[in-house]
This record gives sequence, structure tokens and C-alpha cells, in this order.
Amino acid sequence: SATSTPLFPSLSLSLVRMGDYEFMGGGSNSRRPAYGAVEEMTAQYSSYHVAGTEKKSKPRRSRGQSDAIHNMLSEAGLGRDHPKTSLCCGLFFLILIILVTAWMQTCVPFCGAKTEEKSGLWKKAWQNSSIPKDMYHAMDTTIDPCDDFYQFACGGFESQTGIKPDQVEWARAWDGIEARISRELRKEVEKDKGKAGTFYRACMDEDSVEKLGAKPLQPYLDAIDAIKDQQGLIGVIAQLQAINVPVYFDWQVMADPKQPSRYVLGLLDGGLTLPDARMYSATTHRDAVIRRKFQGVIQKVLELTGLPPSHAKAAAADAWSVERAIAAVTLPDDKLREARMSHLTMPALEKLAPGVGFQRIFAAMGAPSVGAKTDNILCKDEGFVEGLSRLLGSNSLWAHKAYLRFQLAYGLGSDLSKPFLKQGLAVGHILTGVEHQEPRWRKCYQSTKNNLPDEVAKLFVSKNLPPGAIDDVKELLQNIRGVLRKDLLHQEWMTPSTRKLAVEKLDDMFIEVGHGAWQDYSFKVLPHSFLNNTNEAKRWIIQRAFRRLSEPVDRERWGSMDPTQVDGSYARQVNGVFVPAGLIQRPLFDSSFPAARNYGSVGAVLGHEFTHGFDDVGRRYDAKGKMHDWWSHADVTAFNQRAQCVVDLYDQYTVDGKHVNGKQTLAENIADAGGVKLAHKAWRDSLDAPPPEADDQLFFLSWGQTWCSVQRKKATLLSLEQDPHAPDKYRVNGPLSQLDVFTDAFKCTNRAKMNPPTKCGGG
Ligand SMILES: [Zn+2]
Repeated sequence: SATSTPLFPSLSLSLVRMGDYEFMGGGSNSRRPAYGAVEEMTAQYSSYHVAGTEKKSKPRRSRGQSDAIHNMLSEAGLGRDHPKTSLCCGLFFLILIILVTAWMQTCVPFCGAKTEEKSGLWKKAWQNSSIPKDMYHAMDTTIDPCDDFYQFACGGFESQTGIKPDQVEWARAWDGIEARISRELRKEVEKDKGKAGTFYRACMDEDSVEKLGAKPLQPYLDAIDAIKDQQGLIGVIAQLQAINVPVYFDWQVMADPKQPSRYVLGLLDGGLTLPDARMYSATTHRDAVIRRKFQGVIQKVLELTGLPPSHAKAAAADAWSVERAIAAVTLPDDKLREARMSHLTMPALEKLAPGVGFQRIFAAMGAPSVGAKTDNILCKDEGFVEGLSRLLGSNSLWAHKAYLRFQLAYGLGSDLSKPFLKQGLAVGHILTGVEHQEPRWRKCYQSTKNNLPDEVAKLFVSKNLPPGAIDDVKELLQNIRGVLRKDLLHQEWMTPSTRKLAVEKLDDMFIEVGHGAWQDYSFKVLPHSFLNNTNEAKRWIIQRAFRRLSEPVDRERWGSMDPTQVDGSYARQVNGVFVPAGLIQRPLFDSSFPAARNYGSVGAVLGHEFTHGFDDVGRRYDAKGKMHDWWSHADVTAFNQRAQCVVDLYDQYTVDGKHVNGKQTLAENIADAGGVKLAHKAWRDSLDAPPPEADDQLFFLSWGQTWCSVQRKKATLLSLEQDPHAPDKYRVNGPLSQLDVFTDAFKCTNRAKMNPPTKCGGG
């Protein structure tokens, strides 16, 4: 979760991916830290299906991009001001005159004073205003909103908020809600008489877990020790994959991007512990330090499996060499577009990668007929699979055995005793700087939620989803969709046929709010048997995923979205928006809030999700979620031009002296810009008369405070490299700096930082 320690990053990832998260192909909102649990999954998805556009590593929060399109479109420059320079200049002067006059007449509290008095006056004005108290406390009213709106909206929060030792970051809204939900649900789960309660209490039975120590690993360790040849190696790979330890590669049952009514078995790269293949060879000092420390962790983990220290050291070097070899055949995120993706039958896959033994592995796991009659295996990167086949046949058997030992112990480590947990924390510390283990209850609560999400969600929804809330959110969503539809119809730069298809896609997009149909978890949960319970859950999830291979795709199934998740998502392969109950909570949403506040936060977040349907990735999927080129060449060129403006805008932003990567964050930035713009229009359209200025300001303040957060430095660096979202500060300032309605609301001069002369799309 966002707030908790990133223990065992690879484990959480794999848990997620196995599950039923196959739909999350669009990008969620989630603002979870890099290695949480479910969110990452979400993140991961995007990478897959999209065959390479978004990132595959772990983003943390994603969210609405509504206007992506519209924004892109309109912001990207084609708008009104673009063609008419001279008129534009004339207008500019006229506007300037009007602004100056307005400034003299109406700007009393904000602008009139001498600089040194200015901040004091501001402060007073805001104090006397109708801003809700909780929002006012998070602000820094000494900052000029036209200079740095994020700081203005969140400066107070930043100065009052420290990061606890077991946290990677703390986001005011997202983590605040998550913390409240988990505190309340903890009490419910503790006394629950059903499966969730039993599962949780077994996890809390630390005595039993400690007493077992490394014993639960023994049968698997014996199997690894008994490997004599490559056939033996393949047998153990199957055993570990069957308990969701994704050695060498990863997989997922997902809707087929080329034929979205059927499921396919997606074959993905995997088998690495560090979050990015580039970290295994990068020449920076930071990566070298990470590698050295990480090798120390491998050795310690191997000692915990029973190897004597001298032996463990050599084995750690062997295990490391295998991870390095896997990294060498893994395409880094920025090269994913070069991947050779293909649909294969099992015989074709075996021919492509004879050394891996895929047929045997999947048969042993319970999918003996995958790829037997049809090409329902989607290989994300043929190069990776070929490389894997070579490396399984080459490196020494000793090295492979050391690698398996480490992966096993590290992969199951979060369910084992304290010495194992300590090594998980060590990796978290290396990557993000987190210092402490999260409290046991939090770990157990998360584990219960990951394995029995609906059982936990039922306890939540009954108390935390007031009857009117779902309808209120649906109405807000319909209003935003209406604005986006109008916008699409007026995108002159698109060819009429593409415009028509885009509108059809929007009309076909479904919206799910609150929670989905409840699932039954038909596996056994025993008291005092935590590891057994988690293994049962994993087996059950895997078998259910395999069963889907022979079923048609159920578009509206919630899949990976957990109703208690503080997040939203757009799933491109099914063309749907999911809004969990966890997202529509204070301070992001409340039926009793002023409309401007709700539209400025949840409205913009959900606008962001709509926009994902039309961002640089989403636009490649049609109304039914099929991936193909439905845009004409001219449309794509025009789109890319607009997109380049957004890339350039974000490229110039820096955090701690490091630049934001405009390309890496493009889809999310488009979504943010779209989200705010759509939500603002939808809110205005919902009013009978123009709102008072204060309401406009409240709308933008609400967007700003959606992203108030503090984060550890190491985590910030990692996010800059990996997160498809821009840093929070720029999620606020980027979109607002492009909007005339924002600069009008705060009367920003044309010299203000938040009002740059060039705007993507003309404002
Ligand atoms: Zn997003």
C-alpha cells in the first residue's frame, strides 16, 4: 500500500500480476509508492498489453486523464490562437489593458499592495474567505498562487508533515484515506467470524510463524538440491511458478489486445528482483551502490535457507550472475516499443524457446492445453523468450540452483519469520530509504486484503458507502463524459471518420462505481497456518486464471480493482472506467462538499481516467478494446505534434536538480491536463449562473490539494526514473499553467510562472 513499507517488492508484484488483474491496462490513478501491492499490478499491466508504450515498472499513482484528448487536441496547439498571430497580438494587448484595469479595480487583497505587504494581505484574504478549514490548514498563503500553485496549495501540509520510518512517502489525500480505511477495517477484520478474520488472525499469530522459521521452505529446498540436469531444473521452475514465485519469467491471463473477447496467456519478462533491468548494468554510482548492497542481501537470504556463510557467499555470486543474465535479455522500459510481440501456439513457442520447457511448466501448473489448438499465447517479447532459452541451457547448474534458492526464500519471505522480513526491509531501504518494518497488523491487514479482497471490501462498503454517493458520482461522471463528447465533436484537426470513431469509443465506455459482483473464495483458510493459507490462495488464484482461458471475456468484471483501493482506473482492453468505493471518500469526495470541491478533485481524477482512453496509448485501442490503428496517418501526425508540446513542457521541470522525463510521463500528463479541463467545464456547465470567483479558486485549490505529498529522496529519484506519472508538484502546476480559466481565477499576470506565454493548445 501507499503508506507501508515496500517489503519484498518482487513478491508483491507477482502476487498482483497473477491475480486477476488482467484488465488493468489503462492506467490507474493510484498514487501508491512504487512497491506496494495492488497498485503496482495495475501499473504493470499497462506495460504489457500495450506492448510497450507505458512503463512496465511500478508507477504509483495514476489517475484521471480526461481531457487528454481534448487537451491534447485543444491544447496542443491547434486551437484558436494558433493560426492568427496578428489578431492574437492585438487581442493580447486588449487583454492586457483589461487585466491591468481589472487589477487596479478588483484586486485589492491580492495584487495592489507593495511586495513586502503582499503576502500578508493574501493571508488575510484567504483567512477571511470561505475556504474550508481543513483545506486552509494545508495551504501556504505566503506563496503567490501565480508563482507556484502547488506550494501555495500544499506548503502548509509539507511543513507540518514528516515521513515516518516505515513510510516511503505520505500523500495527504490518498494515504490519508487509506490510513483511515485500514484503521477502521482492522477492527472489523479482527472480529470477523468469516474467512477474512481467520486469515488475519493466522497472520497475527506471530509465535507460530516464528517457530516455523525456514521450515516451510524445506520441501522446495530439497527439490532444488535434487536437480541433476536441465529436465530437473524445469520441474522445479514449474513448482515455484505454481506458488507464484515468478522465476525466470512472468505470465498473466489477460484479455487479448487483438481479439478482446477472448483471454490469452500473456508471457512476460520477469525473474528479476530489482525493479528495472537497467539497474543490473548501469554505470552510475547510485546503481553500483544498489548492486553491491543487494548482493549482500542475497547472501544473507541464502544463509537463512541453511547455507553456511562461506558457501552462501559463493552462491550469492552465482545467483547474482543469473539475475544479471536475465537482465541482459530483458528490454528496458524505454525500449519496449522494439519488442517483437506475437501470438503463438504452444508448439511454436517450444520451437522458439526449446530450452525453457514451457509446455511442461504450464502442464504441471494446471494448463496442459494452453496453445494446443489455438494461438492463445501472447508472447510480449520474442527476444526475451529466446534469450531465456539460451541462458537456461548455458549457465552452470550450480548457478541456477543458487538463483532458485534465493528467489524462493525472497519470494515467500514476507510470509515467513522476522529474519526474512528483515531482508525484505533491507531491499526496501536500498531502493527507497524506508527505515522500519510496518507494524504487524498492517502487514496482516494488507495480506488479508490481497488474498481475500472482496471479503474485506464487504466489511468496508456496508459502512462507508452512503446510499446517495454512488448516484452522485455517476452524475458527475456523466457530466464529464458529456463535456468530453462535445469536445471530441469539435476537434477540427481530426479527420471526420476518426472523430466519429472516437465519439463511438466514448459512448461505448462503461463506468463501474463502488464495487463489482462479490466473489467467492473457495479455498480453505485454517487458523494458525498463515503460510499454508497464502499458498492455498495463490494456487486458487492461478487455477481460476487458467479456467478463464476457456471462457469469454467478461468486460465489466472488476478483476484487479479492489473496492477499498484509493484509486481509480481506466482499463483499455475493455474500455471501462472503474471507481472503487475507496476513492469516493473525504477529502477527495463527499456529497456534502461544495460542487467545486468535488469536481476539482474526484471530478478531475475521473476526467483523467476518461482521457486515458484517448492518450498516446489508449488511442490505439478501439471501442471494444481491440488494439489496431483506427486513426488516419494525418490524425496521428497532428496528435503527435500536440503531444510534443506536452513532452517539452514537462521536460523542463526539475526535482532536486534532476529533470522530469516528458516522454515517460506523457500519457499521464495528457490525462491530468484533460482531467482538470474537463472537470472544470463540466462543473461550470452544471451551474445555472456563473459562479462567484471564490468558487473557481476553490475548484483549483481542490485539484492542488489532491496531490499534496512528501516523499523520501531516494524514492523521488526512483520515481523520476520509473514512474509514468510526473512528480506531484507538476501534476498540479503543469496542467494549471496551461489553462486560461486558472490564470483568470487567480488573476495571474502574463509574467507569472503559472502563466507561461506558450500554451499547449492555446489555454
Ligand atoms: Zn492515469
